[in-house]
Amino acid sequence: MLDCAIIGGGPAGLTAGLYATRGGLENVVMFEKGMPGGQITMSSEIENYPGVTGHMTGMDLMIPWPEQCQRFGLKHEMSEVIRVSRREDGIFIVNKSDGSSDEAKSVIVCTGSTPKRAGFVGEDLYFGRGVSTCATCDGFFYKGKEVAVIGGGDTALEEALYLAKICSRVYLIHRRDTFRSAPNTIERVKNTSNIELVVNAIPEEVLGDKMGVTGIRVALKDGSTRHIDVPGVFVFVGNNVNNQVLLQEDGTFLCDMTPWGEVNVNLSMKTSVPGLFAAGDMRAEAPKQVVCAAGDGAVAALQAIAYVDEQSH
Ligand code: FAD
Ligand code: NAP
Repeated sequence: MLDCAIIGGGPAGLTAGLYATRGGLENVVMFEKGMPGGQITMSSEIENYPGVTGHMTGMDLMIPWPEQCQRFGLKHEMSEVIRVSRREDGIFIVNKSDGSSDEAKSVIVCTGSTPKRAGFVGEDLYFGRGVSTCATCDGFFYKGKEVAVIGGGDTALEEALYLAKICSRVYLIHRRDTFRSAPNTIERVKNTSNIELVVNAIPEEVLGDKMGVTGIRVALKDGSTRHIDVPGVFVFVGNNVNNQVLLQEDGTFLCDMTPWGEVNVNLSMKTSVPGLFAAGDMRAEAPKQVVCAAGDGAVAALQAIAYVDEQSH
């Protein structure tokens, strides 16, 4: 029986593993379907993790994390978890894709979320070379420059407002002329002088050269096209939350979720189910930053230690 099962080995899962083992839990396993490190390992540069002063890739940042955890006894199992369920006696069952399962007294789910791609030509080719899905991560690289934002939901409009404080001009490109966002956010966008709305505009192609993005071409409703010269294109067209492990056989989720599939947690990373915690990008209102995911993981592990201790007395 595991004291704690950690699902996912990104910044949240690894930090949860560090704190859980160093805090005295025995038999802690981190289940990760690929290499540990999480999605930041795809980033060519991380500037905003505290203490990073020189050039550092996401991979450079994450390489020491698993070794640090293993020193305190974290076990890493390379397995895909397909479902976490809970028996009536409160014990969790971690079901894996090879058909085997483990029992655990507590579970921390840290499976992350993946931004959707819009599907225009050049989006994948220039991803990380001018195309981004994270304004907090990459906005600063465009300080004083013009950028384009794609999308018409809350995320696109809020990120456009964030970028407008850093960039000289933000072209907000949306395929319709009405937005899904909250009315006050729409109002703030309309009242921001350096945001230009480009509506009824479908992104067709991101243009670039060997240095990266140089612009974007959009198709307009009247059949014409418009070229916008920008070195950065930010895509905010929704997220796929990796929440499948919480989906039960009857189609319900193990714990309370937001309407868009994120896990509802309180400030202690507790879900609605005792002994089940969620941390990192998959939880509601996550800032989707490495430092925040790591912080969540630490909080969740401290709570898991307290929970396991309470259960044994
Ligand atoms: P993730 O990092 O997504 O890790 C989740 C892990 O769970 C993955 O390793 C995955 O393989 C595993 N997993 C998923 N499902 C299962 C399953 N069923 N079974 C087993 N394992 C599973 N943040 C910053 O702070 N600064 C930046 O500059 C920055 N730049 C970024 C650039 C790029 C290109 C990207 C993609 C992200 C960037 N981010 C940045 C965001 C940052 O990477 C995330 O906020 C952070 O990685 C979230 O950590 P996490 O542990 O919650 O999830
Ligand atoms: P979203 O609401 O699904 O909006 C996605 C936007 O991208 C839509 O405007 C959509 O256009 C557009 N889009 C989708 N696919 C596209 C494509 N292929 N090409 C071009 N445009 C495309 O996603 P979100 O903004 O990430 O928000 C997700 C959920 O989180 C929402 O429920 C939102 O309210 C919530 N959220 C809330 C807050 C907050 O309350 N502060 C902040 C962020 C997110 P259409 O409109 O034409 O479909």
